[in-house]
Amino acid sequence: MSVERAVEQLKPQFLGSILMPSDEGYEAARKVYNGMIDKRPAAIARCVDVADVIAAVRAARDQDLLVAIRGGGHNAGGLGSCDDGLVIDLSRMRGVRVNPSARTVQVEGGCTGRDVDHATHAFGMATPTGTVSSTGIAGLTLGGGIGHLSRPFGLTIDNLLAVDMVLADGSFVTASAETNPDLYWAVRGGGGNFGVVTSFLFRLHPVATVNAGPTFWPLDQAPEVIKAYREFIAEAPEDVSGFLAFMTVPPVPLFPENLHHQKVCAVIWCSTAAPEKSERVTRPMRSVGKPLLDHVGPMPFLALQSLFDPLLPPGLQMYWRADFHKELSDASIPVHQKYAERIPQGLSLMHLYPINGAVHRVGRADTAFTYRDCLVAGVIVGIDPDPKNKEAITMWTKEYFDALHPYSAGGAYVNFMMEEGQERVRAPFGENYNRLAAIKKKYDPTNFFRVNQNIRPA
Ligand SMILES: Cc1cc2nc3c(=O)[nH]c(=O)nc-3n(C[C@H](O)[C@H](O)[C@H](O)COP(=O)(O)OP(=O)(O)OC[C@H]3O[C@@H](n4cnc5c(N)ncnc54)[C@H](O)[C@@H]3O)c2cc1C
Repeated sequence: MSVERAVEQLKPQFLGSILMPSDEGYEAARKVYNGMIDKRPAAIARCVDVADVIAAVRAARDQDLLVAIRGGGHNAGGLGSCDDGLVIDLSRMRGVRVNPSARTVQVEGGCTGRDVDHATHAFGMATPTGTVSSTGIAGLTLGGGIGHLSRPFGLTIDNLLAVDMVLADGSFVTASAETNPDLYWAVRGGGGNFGVVTSFLFRLHPVATVNAGPTFWPLDQAPEVIKAYREFIAEAPEDVSGFLAFMTVPPVPLFPENLHHQKVCAVIWCSTAAPEKSERVTRPMRSVGKPLLDHVGPMPFLALQSLFDPLLPPGLQMYWRADFHKELSDASIPVHQKYAERIPQGLSLMHLYPINGAVHRVGRADTAFTYRDCLVAGVIVGIDPDPKNKEAITMWTKEYFDALHPYSAGGAYVNFMMEEGQERVRAPFGENYNRLAAIKKKYDPTNFFRVNQNIRPA
């Protein structure tokens, strides 16, 4: 294995830039979004086109280098980078092309949510992605993709029509319902295990203005709010959505000063229904108990998608744990209450994202994303700007997760996981795991792409 030889081989064929530890720009380029991750790759190949990706894969394979694929660099465990190996970095491949008559959008592998929303919003359309617009579309999509539009239009993968990929042998393929259907099945939830996706084709939906915003309640009303929410979200029309959260109100002008630093239970709403219907359907839930704040109204979908971005700049310390939940049982409510009260000051949070509605209309075996029958995808994230508080946020997250796990469905959404061991990797895929392992064996028999939630070749 020689990085120098790989770089030597790569340079004459490479249009982008290659950064090594002695190069200016390396320190900035090696950083990923999570400030807790500190990986030092031997080289970073910043690709500008598919030819660069092919050349990088071939050079790494010929020199037997460890490879990580980087899209948006948001992965909690830092799986968009590696120590010592080669990072194939797609962050300069950000082209987006909307086809308004076909209602599709073609998205290059290094795009963020913001790139896609910006392009599609101009046409009054959107495809379902995540809730923070700096997140990479590639990693988000390959793991499933949960967000404000999941209930009306499904997961991101439910709107994925095709991918272009570079495989471990350096060949270039398309995967869709018609071409390489096994690969198309696997990339819809199986993560970056099967190759480097250079382009995604998504279906679009007419979404321009949504009725959105937060309702906050004091923490002592959390049990009442959770009980009302679980009934509400199980029955609500699919075009009305909202995720449940525990958080500390950040001291920003967006929120009234008297609420700053207060721990709250919240629902963050997003409805694509007509304003009168949104108001009628959400009013009973928003009237539960005595809300501290109820700030819901029409806003451009583009604005909602980047609403939380200023609170979550890159470089924060983040520790993640997650699980799917089929129900929000009575027994789990005191656990939520206890750890919400202990939420560390700052940005730490717990979110429960609804994944019913359109998500449930796709079968467990129709894509690699198995947990279709759950009500919510839960995530607990300890967040703090100061590395000195790393232990405290990690401890809170772990203890909350351990206490809640017995009430969960058993596995977590892969995109909300850190590096947690092979058993945790198998759990999200359930009965789909063996089929994924067989497809991995067909397309990547040597496990060349292994810096991910790794599915071992059968
Ligand atoms: C602040 C924040 C908010 C988030 N909100 C949401 C949300 O609302 N909904 C949601 O579903 N998830 C959300 N996530 C989780 C997110 O989906 C994952 O972190 C995801 O891995 C990010 O993708 P990325 O491309 O930015 O990651 P990277 O770190 O670049 O890569 C992550 C993984 O994807 C693989 N990968 C990346 N690009 C490619 C490619 N082009 N081809 C093949 N494999 C590739 C990598 O190998 C790696 O294993 C959020 C994360 C953060 C930090």
